Amino acid sequence: MENWQRKWETTNKGGITTEYFPEVRERLHTKINLTQNFTTMVMGRGNIKSYLHRFKIIDTSNCPCGNGHQTMEHILLECATLQEDRERLIAEVAKTGDWPISKDMLIKKHYKAFAKFTKKLMKLRKLIHKKNISGRATREETSERAFFSYMKRRNNHCKYQL
Ligand SMILES: [Zn+2]
Repeated sequence: MENWQRKWETTNKGGITTEYFPEVRERLHTKINLTQNFTTMVMGRGNIKSYLHRFKIIDTSNCPCGNGHQTMEHILLECATLQEDRERLIAEVAKTGDWPISKDMLIKKHYKAFAKFTKKLMKLRKLIHKKNISGRATREETSERAFFSYMKRRNNHCKYQL
């Protein structure tokens, strides 16, 4: 499993870049919508606690579901919050092969199901807000928000839809 995670996180070097997607689009005859959640899962940068923690934006990488660090592996394979959505994705993948599957194959063969799954990363955000009953942003949320508005400004010029 560790191997698999390393593979997932280093696949970018093997060529999952923006140039990669037009080729996939051709093959699948579908629009590829590079949403923030999708690129977060694929590129490993963005709104994932392990990433934010690595850059010291937040103090802990624990997932609000309480079952460990919020890495991409956790989100895809373990996170209780996304259990239902994962089952749907696994059912789709299982029609033609084994689970878990490489990132490359998830995108190439199961783009639609995978994109649908990445949309559900929203649930992880909601979980944090629901827990914050005081209505005030915690220190962690405040620094996360500041970070993302910074990233958004920085990335605005390279927003695109394929
Ligand atoms: Zn979790």
